[in-house]
Amino acid sequence: MHTFELIEKHGDNHEQVVFCRNKEAGLRAIIAIHNTALGPALGGTRMWPYKSEEDALVDVLRLSKGMTYKASVAGLNLGGGKAVIIGDPKRDKTEEMFRAFGAFVNSLGGAYITAEDVGTTEKEMEYIFMETPFVTGIPAAFGGSGDPSPYTAHGVFMAIKASVKEKLGADNLQGLRINVQGLGNVGRHLVEFLVGEGVHVGVADIDQDKVKAITARFKDLKVLDANDIVTTECDVFAPCALGAVINDQTVSKLKCKIVCGGANNQLAEARHGDALRELGILYAPDFVANAGGLMNVFVELEGYSSDRAFDKTKKVYENLMRVFTMAKTEGLSTHVAADRIAEARLSKISSLRSHLQGRTARPYSTLKEMVLRS
Ligand code: NAD
Repeated sequence: MHTFELIEKHGDNHEQVVFCRNKEAGLRAIIAIHNTALGPALGGTRMWPYKSEEDALVDVLRLSKGMTYKASVAGLNLGGGKAVIIGDPKRDKTEEMFRAFGAFVNSLGGAYITAEDVGTTEKEMEYIFMETPFVTGIPAAFGGSGDPSPYTAHGVFMAIKASVKEKLGADNLQGLRINVQGLGNVGRHLVEFLVGEGVHVGVADIDQDKVKAITARFKDLKVLDANDIVTTECDVFAPCALGAVINDQTVSKLKCKIVCGGANNQLAEARHGDALRELGILYAPDFVANAGGLMNVFVELEGYSSDRAFDKTKKVYENLMRVFTMAKTEGLSTHVAADRIAEARLSKISSLRSHLQGRTARPYSTLKEMVLRS
């Protein structure tokens, strides 16, 4: 299929899709800006050995739209964008590749702001920062916020509390059984928060080194088989690994009351959200639950303070409660309610802007000003 046909098929009225190539630096990347109605498009750069350019394009289109929805429900003045670099993060990373990529980000003049994602770290953000100010998640030494995952995990922790309040009527998590799938950046921080709250935590990872590292820190964890964790009985199942974990094979076998975790795109398809509702399992829509990392980089744009970022992630509780309330009052699945809340804010702010179009010059002098005044 040709590029425009692919964008037509997998995109969602994206504003801009930029193909970035620098032969000398070995860079092949795509930046997708989905929507900037609320502010500049912010989303991380994923580096992945995509099997084809088509796979990379489809991924960046899907992920950038997700960022628009995430920022909208989180109440942030940010639009949705994302970038992908085609390559193996274990083998292909070089300084020149990321500086070349930074130059492309810079050429967009702030319409797109990048950050870390799967396959990229603070180190690469530092290289990008050498070429552009339009990057977040840079090391603290440069005034940045560094790794966003503790904040993502704290937001997920808040989301679990909101879900437990909604489904079980409890104000704390003490004594509950919560199974965490994936012990990477988000999962391991989440485990720490849960242990601190007196939860019986079950854990699994396909990487046994990750399991060993966490069980060395917390002695009372129950280690589960990575093949079984999805269907092991518990109060809350917290997916913190890859997407599409709720699918045709797993959905009817779930033995939990709540699904709430940090992974992106947990539902293989939207209909699996409806299936959860029919089974009486409360689903915390992923892009609402895992917005803590985005809140953290937003604080970086304002002028970073770790305390303020942690404080902001507490808002995930309230955001999720709004979703649950709408789902109940309008008889919707929670994933549908979350989409509607995101779309309503987008549409209201867009019409506000178009109302005075031509008269609202927005002369931003700094990145901070651009975000705060968007
Ligand atoms: P990560 O790569 O550090 O961790 C993922 C972990 O999952 C790895 O340890 C991996 O071995 C494990 N895993 C993979 N497949 C598994 C399986 N089938 N069963 C058990 N474990 C498995 O990634 P991360 O940064 O912790 O992100 C986790 C998820 O959260 C991803 O979906 C990511 O997109 C999403 N997310 C992350 C952030 C963030 O701040 N890092 C923000 C928002 C969303």
